[in-house]
Amino acid sequence: MSEKLDGDDEQAKLRGVPARLRALLDTVPQGTHLTRMEIYDLTKAAGWSLSLSTIYRALDKLYADGLVSAIRTRRTMAFEGVTERPVHEHLICFHCGEAIECETIFSQLGEQIAKYHGFDFEHSELILKGICEKCQKLPDSLA
Ligand SMILES: [Zn+2]
Ligand SMILES: [Zn+2]
Repeated sequence: MSEKLDGDDEQAKLRGVPARLRALLDTVPQGTHLTRMEIYDLTKAAGWSLSLSTIYRALDKLYADGLVSAIRTRRTMAFEGVTERPVHEHLICFHCGEAIECETIFSQLGEQIAKYHGFDFEHSELILKGICEKCQKLPDSLA
């Protein structure tokens, strides 16, 4: 029984937070991919006084609802809002974890493929992996 009550309490605590978090993420410049902790710091900087776990849960909900996308870099997950962003793909460096945004033919292709399958296309999350220009120039001992 208490489990259900906890669940309701959690819902109550979360009420409205995902929508606010989504709006906050839409203010971040295009091309910025934030870790969970950086997103928490962002809410602090915006004067919010919500707990880390509440922010994480709101973020998980946005992610589950397709309102933020996530890219998995070498060390962590990095998130970005998708509602105000043009469709784009990411190049991720195996070595330093840098994520570079690019618009590719896949961005438009995704929409066509989705339509073909009767989907109302939202966004795609294609990830191209390799070694970035900077890391290619590193001496072998560091690479
Ligand atoms: Zn991006
Ligand atoms: Zn790199």
